[in-house]
Amino acid sequence: MSDPDVAVVGAGPAGLIAAERLAEAGHRVAIYERMAAPARKFLLAGRGGLNLTHSEPLEAFLARYGEARSWLEPAIRAFPPQALRDWADGLGARSFVGSSGRIFPKAMKASPLLRAWLARLGRLGVALHTGRLWTGWDESGALRLVTRAGGEETVTPRATLLALGGASWPRLGADGSWVGLLARKGVAIAPLRPANAGFAVAWSPLMRDRFAGLPLKRIALGFDGRRVPGEAMIDAGGIEGGAVYALAGALRDAIARGGGAVLTIDLRPDLTESELAGRLARRRPGETLSNHLRKAAGLSPVAAAVLRETARGPLPAEPAALARLIKAAPLRLTGMASLARAISTAGGIRADEIDPDFMLKRLPGVFVAGEMMDWEAPTGGYLLQACFATGVAAAEGIGRFLHGTSPSFRGGPEAQARNDTQPSRLSR
Ligand SMILES: Cc1cc2nc3c(=O)[nH]c(=O)nc-3n(C[C@H](O)[C@H](O)[C@H](O)COP(=O)(O)OP(=O)(O)OC[C@H]3O[C@@H](n4cnc5c(N)ncnc54)[C@H](O)[C@@H]3O)c2cc1C
Repeated sequence: MSDPDVAVVGAGPAGLIAAERLAEAGHRVAIYERMAAPARKFLLAGRGGLNLTHSEPLEAFLARYGEARSWLEPAIRAFPPQALRDWADGLGARSFVGSSGRIFPKAMKASPLLRAWLARLGRLGVALHTGRLWTGWDESGALRLVTRAGGEETVTPRATLLALGGASWPRLGADGSWVGLLARKGVAIAPLRPANAGFAVAWSPLMRDRFAGLPLKRIALGFDGRRVPGEAMIDAGGIEGGAVYALAGALRDAIARGGGAVLTIDLRPDLTESELAGRLARRRPGETLSNHLRKAAGLSPVAAAVLRETARGPLPAEPAALARLIKAAPLRLTGMASLARAISTAGGIRADEIDPDFMLKRLPGVFVAGEMMDWEAPTGGYLLQACFATGVAAAEGIGRFLHGTSPSFRGGPEAQARNDTQPSRLSR
């Protein structure tokens, strides 16, 4: 088996789209994936409908990446949400815009899209080698791959793309074990932390037994001056869901600083406090408080239970005080769910280690894409969009490298090979 021009390590969306672009450009591409099958996390994302991207204006879209916007923006502008939709369309996965502005394939799953995608990669001549765990480089600079049977193979491509993902849901393949391999080469890596994850709450036994698994619908969550309308889900150990994830980064950092954080829950975001107080003032004689909360304030049993949990004592009888609590029920969060259960990973390869072509500055010829880099974004399609866009951008960068026109590394692989023999070159 001859060495490919480009070895793509990791068959998630970032690696697969890069492989497609590189093969289309005429390069010989081989993908190496540790699992028995590609794109396991992409398939899991499909179970939730596969939120591919989002339809909001690009300015608002880009703002979702926070500090990472500055270096992700060129890649996302070059491969924006519409380009992702067109690409999916080309594979027979027509998409639609949901009521929240999120974009999904009509099939609401990933498997038909992935099947068509793998068939296209096959037609382009991309070789997919599954059951290959990348474990670093040997002394000659070749990639070391351990097979399922425990054997070792090496491959010496002209360029390498690492698209190894973060460390959430590690049983799907991405477990962050690459961190040590790159750190040993001097690559700076921000600690991997959970993003888009739930939080622990010390619920009462009653709350855990009766309300775990139930949704809190049409609420708004607030923290640190930000307010997010949406939904949340009660689980036995705490609270999770879209609105929680949107505040997860700020909550995570506050918990890390001070040991806890208080999330405020507006259980009736459609009513003002005084409107609510007016309704609560009309309580019929003999009516139980539960009935009153349900009829006058329109609270579901789970919303009323959350209200009681946050009151830390009897609920206030006075309508104005009760309305105030319903509009800003303070829920104390005691910790964040583990990285293993998070939707995505914060932290990763630091931006200043990566050149504008997504090549590692310390390892010429080695490129990176996707979730393994140090950015985070809320759910809503922003995760997959950035993985696809950086995969496309890295493929472009690899093309320039192979042609010797890389802006920050003139001369391409051949110059790199010459440098390999010189002791002064950064180690590989
Ligand atoms: C439950 C869930 C639902 C989600 N839903 C959505 C959604 O609807 N919309 C959205 O935008 N995002 C969603 N995401 C996030 C999205 O799936 C990820 O951000 C995306 O898959 C990351 O792509 P990636 O290519 O960077 O990495 P990954 O998809 O993680 O792929 C990395 C690949 O590299 C392989 N690998 C790792 N280490 C090695 C090694 N040493 N050797 C060889 N192979 C290796 C892994 O096995 C894996 O196949 C969801 C995530 C989860 C967990």
